[in-house]
Amino acid sequence: MGGTLADKRDYYEVLDVERSATEKDLKNAFRRLARRYHPDRSEEPDAEDKFKEIQEAYAVLSDPDRRAHYDRFGHDSPAGNPFGGFSGGGFNINLEDLLGGDFFSGFFGGGRGRGRERRGSDILVRHSIELATVLTGSEESIELDLPAECKTCTGSGAKDGKTTTCSQCQGQGRVRVRQQIGPFVNEVVQDCRECGGTGSIIESPCNDCSGRGHRVEERTIRFNVPAGAEHGTRLRLRGQGQPAERGQGSHGDLLIEIEVLTHPWFERNGSDLIMSLPLGYPDLMLGTKISIDHIDGKKLDIVIPASSSAGHTLEIKKRGLPHMRRSGRGDVVVLLKLHVPDKISKADKKQLESMKSSLNPSDQVQRILDDASERRANE
Ligand SMILES: [Zn+2]
Ligand SMILES: [Zn+2]
Repeated sequence: MGGTLADKRDYYEVLDVERSATEKDLKNAFRRLARRYHPDRSEEPDAEDKFKEIQEAYAVLSDPDRRAHYDRFGHDSPAGNPFGGFSGGGFNINLEDLLGGDFFSGFFGGGRGRGRERRGSDILVRHSIELATVLTGSEESIELDLPAECKTCTGSGAKDGKTTTCSQCQGQGRVRVRQQIGPFVNEVVQDCRECGGTGSIIESPCNDCSGRGHRVEERTIRFNVPAGAEHGTRLRLRGQGQPAERGQGSHGDLLIEIEVLTHPWFERNGSDLIMSLPLGYPDLMLGTKISIDHIDGKKLDIVIPASSSAGHTLEIKKRGLPHMRRSGRGDVVVLLKLHVPDKISKADKKQLESMKSSLNPSDQVQRILDDASERRANE
């Protein structure tokens, strides 16, 4: 037993529970800590020691007799070493029962569910679309190099399809392993190393796929991009991903992540399209109409009323993108900006000078106040 009694931590402290903790509290605390410190999985430097400590504490506290004994005597038990009565075998904590199969499935290869159900990996590809495509949605078709079942061996990986049942696991693919960690014996279920968890041994591997059971093949993938799709939307094509190893189990999924290409002038805010429109002072003052090509194929007419202010916005209703979960379209929001030329002619300068007295605000302070209150009202 490592450590002296003096530097042994209190079991309740180890599990970070109250002395009144119920059986369920203990179990939850153990699960939480075991997930964090399991030596096969933890990256903490002292994980193994921590894990032993946690197991020991749990083994004692989860046993009512031992807990009562510990509560009375602590580590200074008159019976000496609290594990004295259990020479040899140690504690048999079934970690798989305690932590659940999911906890272990992550250790060995991963990517599969409970029990013997095996699944190929998911494959993620990115696909770019124009902003205009978001408007209507579209049926896309792309060529991809994807792993597909090897036709020569029908996915088994074996030449002539010949395999023998693995003697190590009797074809189960999984084996129970007793693991000794300090004084404890854990029973864990692992993938059989002999057969790679498949339950069968290939006598001679298929030449075309080197025994993997799948090869890369060019495939045409068709899918629908829904109208209103957002940048980063992932479409899941079930069963179109990687086949399971040696054809035993289901295919993974193919995930297509939609990338919406940047538009030259529109920004997107949900289903609204936002653009800024620089205008000369006369157009803002007198009003005007600007007509530009829009992504819906029609002209977008922007009517700027007389006496418009730079910094204000105009909304053109229902010319934005389709809403995702309801009918209709968002708006185009136009931010008015004042275009100021770098240089002006002498004649223009003279004219501007002459307009100063009539166009500049005479009540500057009042303007500042009005502007500030308008800004606050809009916040
Ligand atoms: Zn093959
Ligand atoms: Zn095996």
